[in-house]
Amino acid sequence: MAKRIFNFSAGPATLPLSVLEQVQAELLDFQGSGMSLMEMSHRGKIFDAVYKDSIERLRRIAAIPDDFDILYMTGGASTQFTLIPLNLKQSGKAGYINTGAWSKKAMGQAKILNMAVNELASSAESNHNHIPQIPAIPADLDYVHLTSNNTIFGTQFSDFPQSPVPLCVDMSSDFLSRPIDWSKMSLVYAGMQKNAGPAGVTVVILRKDLYARESAETPTIWRYSTFGENESMYNTPPTFQIYIFGLILKWIEDEMGGLQGVAAHNQKKAQAIYNVIDQYPDFFVGHARKDSRSLMNITWNYANADLNPVFVQESEANGMSGLKGHRSVGGLRASIYNAMSLAGCEELAQRMLAFHKQHA
Ligand SMILES: *Cc1c(COP(=O)(O)O)cnc(C)c1O
Repeated sequence: MAKRIFNFSAGPATLPLSVLEQVQAELLDFQGSGMSLMEMSHRGKIFDAVYKDSIERLRRIAAIPDDFDILYMTGGASTQFTLIPLNLKQSGKAGYINTGAWSKKAMGQAKILNMAVNELASSAESNHNHIPQIPAIPADLDYVHLTSNNTIFGTQFSDFPQSPVPLCVDMSSDFLSRPIDWSKMSLVYAGMQKNAGPAGVTVVILRKDLYARESAETPTIWRYSTFGENESMYNTPPTFQIYIFGLILKWIEDEMGGLQGVAAHNQKKAQAIYNVIDQYPDFFVGHARKDSRSLMNITWNYANADLNPVFVQESEANGMSGLKGHRSVGGLRASIYNAMSLAGCEELAQRMLAFHKQHA
């Protein structure tokens, strides 16, 4: 048996053990083909079935309406920061909600493409410790962009604004962590390596009418319609990553009770850790305001800052990794994506309580 630890890394992050075991079992001879899935054509029958199964499953699990296409792309969420303004630009004005480092990077790319960026709301003045109130969204914008979960700061939108212009959402760190209200969305994208798979594949789900906005001057490979019209196979897609993503979807459907089940599980996991923070608020200083807390990334500092590295060190000695906070918040960050077990979260909560007892 491989020795597995509790991995709280922000991404790439922990994956379901049953999925990794299946990948291992099928690695050398995929479904009796005598070769690995990595070694076969993306245009062959076997991969085609893997691709189709993943698309159908994703549509079913996330209840994605028929007027949306599902694209598998590469280049991570960072590439979408550029492709969204590139493909959706009309008048050249867009709205952005600034809830942290990733939102800011998205705005930066729009500015490079000469978009007038209207920062509709921001949490910058409080080092992004909350989700700001969003004012009425002006109807003359080409689109509005927000980050649903702020991986670095540990805040998360609990619901989304009604928007008169297409709402584009970066769901990289909470995709498939809860049901999605498609009536509010026009374009949703996520790099898979946080919550839903290995690095190397980015899922983009967009309403098909947005293709009409593309310009003839946009290079073919940078257009969403190229991926939509070619089942994401205009060029070679990341076949192995798509296969693993499909196994994770199967795991969500068969073992986790779909997105409702996943959401309930995530709620319980996060609660186990937030309860400890709330029990001793003079010792554990949570970064996110209570009404904005993320169920995916939990951020805190010890009131005595000298204890931050001590806790990291002790947790590592006790079979936990990835708990050091991002430098812009400091302290600790526990990333508890879908594949982190309740047992892992309870173990961390116990360690935090023991740490309090020892140092308070
Ligand atoms: C990690 C992350 C990104 C960047 O993803 P890449 O795949 O590395 O480009 C963007 N947005 C959010 C919210 C993230 O967590």
